[in-house]
Amino acid sequence: MNHPASLAAIRKPLPEELLLALQNLLEDRCSTSLAMREHHGSDESSYDPMLPDAVVFAQTTEEVSSIVRLCNHYEVPVIAYGAGSSLEGHILALRGGVSLDLSQMNNMVAVHAEDLTATVQAGVTRKQLNLEIKDTGLFFPIDPGADASLGGMAATRASGTNAVRYGTMRENVLALTVVTADGRIIKTGTRAKKSSAGYDLTRVFVGSEGTLGIITEVTVRLYPLPEAISAAVCTFPSIADAVNTVIQTIQMGVPVARVEFLDENGVKAINAYDKMQLPEKSLLLFEFHGSEHGVQEQAELVQEIAAAHDGGDFEWATRPEDRSRLWAARHNAYFALLQMRPGARSISTDCCVPISMLAECIGETQLDCERCGIVYSIIGHVGDGNFHVIMMIDPEDAEDIAKAEGVNARMVARAIAMDGTCTGEHGVGLHKMDFLIQEHGENAIDMMRALKHAFDPKNIMNPGKIISWDKN
Ligand SMILES: Cc1cc2nc3c(=O)[nH]c(=O)nc-3n(C[C@H](O)[C@H](O)[C@H](O)COP(=O)(O)OP(=O)(O)OC[C@H]3O[C@@H](n4cnc5c(N)ncnc54)[C@H](O)[C@@H]3O)c2cc1C
Repeated sequence: MNHPASLAAIRKPLPEELLLALQNLLEDRCSTSLAMREHHGSDESSYDPMLPDAVVFAQTTEEVSSIVRLCNHYEVPVIAYGAGSSLEGHILALRGGVSLDLSQMNNMVAVHAEDLTATVQAGVTRKQLNLEIKDTGLFFPIDPGADASLGGMAATRASGTNAVRYGTMRENVLALTVVTADGRIIKTGTRAKKSSAGYDLTRVFVGSEGTLGIITEVTVRLYPLPEAISAAVCTFPSIADAVNTVIQTIQMGVPVARVEFLDENGVKAINAYDKMQLPEKSLLLFEFHGSEHGVQEQAELVQEIAAAHDGGDFEWATRPEDRSRLWAARHNAYFALLQMRPGARSISTDCCVPISMLAECIGETQLDCERCGIVYSIIGHVGDGNFHVIMMIDPEDAEDIAKAEGVNARMVARAIAMDGTCTGEHGVGLHKMDFLIQEHGENAIDMMRALKHAFDPKNIMNPGKIISWDKN
């Protein structure tokens, strides 16, 4: 998919003085090599690459501050880069500039096991965090499929399979250290569990996608590892039966830890990709956390609900290694689906609706996909009312792209009409800017624009993302 030519037209060359200053500051941690720029200017979205002019690697908050001060002085864009796993064109350097890679900021700052909190540098990834705290008996539950950085996850307000029980980054970030667009260093919160102290800047930066400031440290909540965990797979004769099982489970307040939906296409893809033998029908993957007794009670209740919706018997993954394999396969679903059509790229969608509307929204969306004759799969974190249609398209075929974008636009319109949202977890980036206006309306977008202008008056922070700088 191409970018509007107007965006390329406003690219300015990187000032020589700025490059020299960055090289003096960072030495070999400042690169202009094509390979490095390509790596930082392309992503999993269906957009063409858009390269930054330079890539810099920071190791401390103070270095981030110096880099941003320089870019602010020369009015050059700065695009924060975590693990580059975002899906909506977030990290593309529309106007060139400097990609600020935080992956070398990967130190633990503090673990307060007694308070169930950890503070990490922004480049620490979710898997690394869980490894670092494994001896404390605690864990960090937020798990977007990719091994994303905590800074990137905060910046996209990420969630994943565990959110139905443990919440998203919105609920789990307590405090941030942020470098503002003029290079100042601020702290936005504390480790206290709650606070009524003024405007909630933490939640302004959570979900701001690098457009308001650069997050350099993140303080998150941790949770005790559950005494008992069990996981099960249950198949259904139709998508509607599976989804209605989930709706009733949530409405009855069963505290499931995970409940993931995969349609038949999705199951076939992961069976082939991960050499699994899952039954090739619509299915739900469940995980229950709690005491031995609590887990058993939850599982029995959900089995009854599933049976009432023609669900098959639960197939249990009891051994930890079987559970890990199951969830790894679920997390790989995106890459498995890409194999359904060799050479394809994906257009992934992401909407979220109130739970009572989920069956209707998924049902109508599936009909739409069938009518369009595209290669697709529907998967989702259905316990949250969140699902994705992943469409495998030929990037050279304009008709194919138009069909998929049509499905996406109608799905978003459907979700918004149901009082839902155009993105449950992936964020806005470049791809969802128009949908954001549909969802919030011009007046709310004006308030967001006012915020952007106040926080980033020279429009250097990941410009051209989430909202346009000028009112069109
Ligand atoms: C296979 C696959 C499955 C996925 N599944 C899920 C899922 O289930 N749930 C989900 O929520 N997401 C999912 N995602 C999307 C992705 O993993 C998230 O968007 C992730 O949170 C991005 O983190 P990152 O470190 O890769 O950030 P990047 O992609 O590097 O950056 C994302 C955005 O945040 C900004 N940013 C990055 N770091 C900082 C920082 N320190 N300060 C300020 N801004 C910053 C960037 O400028 C950019 O706008 C999936 C992605 C893939 C590839």
